[in-house]
Amino acid sequence: MLTDAYARRYSYLRLSITESCNFRCTYCLPDGNDCNSRTAEITLPEIRRLVTAFAKLGTRKVRITGGEPSLRKDLTDIIATCKAIPGIEKVALTTNGYRLRRDAQAWLEAGLDAVNVSVDSLDAATFHLVTGQDKLADILDGIAHAKAIGIKQVKINTVLLKQHNALALPDFLQFVKQQNIALRFIELMRTNDNTSFYQHQHLSGDSIQQQLLAQGWQLNPKAKTDGPALEYSHPDYQGQIGLIMPYSNDFCADCNRLRVSSKGQLYLCLFTDNYQDLRSLLQHDDSAPVMRLLQQAVQGKAASHYLDQGYSGSTRHLAQIGG
Ligand code: SAM
Ligand code: SF4
Repeated sequence: MLTDAYARRYSYLRLSITESCNFRCTYCLPDGNDCNSRTAEITLPEIRRLVTAFAKLGTRKVRITGGEPSLRKDLTDIIATCKAIPGIEKVALTTNGYRLRRDAQAWLEAGLDAVNVSVDSLDAATFHLVTGQDKLADILDGIAHAKAIGIKQVKINTVLLKQHNALALPDFLQFVKQQNIALRFIELMRTNDNTSFYQHQHLSGDSIQQQLLAQGWQLNPKAKTDGPALEYSHPDYQGQIGLIMPYSNDFCADCNRLRVSSKGQLYLCLFTDNYQDLRSLLQHDDSAPVMRLLQQAVQGKAASHYLDQGYSGSTRHLAQIGG
């Protein structure tokens, strides 16, 4: 088991498979893709060796992310490879949904258990403004399709933005009233590239929390393996509303996640100045050296990301490491 100096246990790997993206989300890649290093992306055999080493140390869940992971032509093979590794119980994907309608069936057959789709607005014009893509209807169609074909867990991620969706809570609530889907609001995080945007757009999840409680939503009990979201239910609504509030004080206390970038670099946190290169250790099937490095590295994981104290590490944007 991977356990750090604060007795936190790591059973969840977030693996970025590309930095590239075809969207231009205002808070992430407003000028579009800024990377031309697709050739350096972690390969399928390297992913197999990496996830095998993690699984031998107790990792049970892998989330594939990016950049936009569905831009990789071998995504279906990557899902199947991760799912086939002994010990891996759950394979999840975070995507902008661009390829969901087309590829969800193949991903399901490859073993995908869960998909999170980013939808920052339910208004088509606002969605276009935030993402640079006039695709809201296609993405919602993809979400409905993913649910219909039987992907076990389909969730929506919505970054809270003062200007674009702060007043749209009624629209989001209406959306989850009729369908059993979890929609989670994520507080906008400051990265090195979005400092000024952050200052204008950051909105605390507290205001949403107050509105939910006032309208009779109740906090669900949390299982030990659950992620950082606080999840709320209401008897009149089929779906759930979640809140991910990285700026709250105790956000890191039960962290169970480690990250590997699409270049094969281990990041102990999204907001850190350091990484460790695993690539050279992924060129042969012997897991022992990777396992040794992971066990050692995890001891250096800081108690907190200290975002609440104004720190934001050296991460330029979340597409760089994988959000
Ligand atoms: N491209 C995929 C997508 O958008 O779902 C996967 C990668 S994206 C970096 C993963 C998640 O991080 C998305 O839900 C996105 O909205 C969120 N995200 C990106 N930058 C963020 C920021 N600065 N603060 C909070 N969430 C952010
Ligand atoms: Fe691309 Fe996702 Fe970043 Fe949007 S949040 S620009 S979809 S990587």
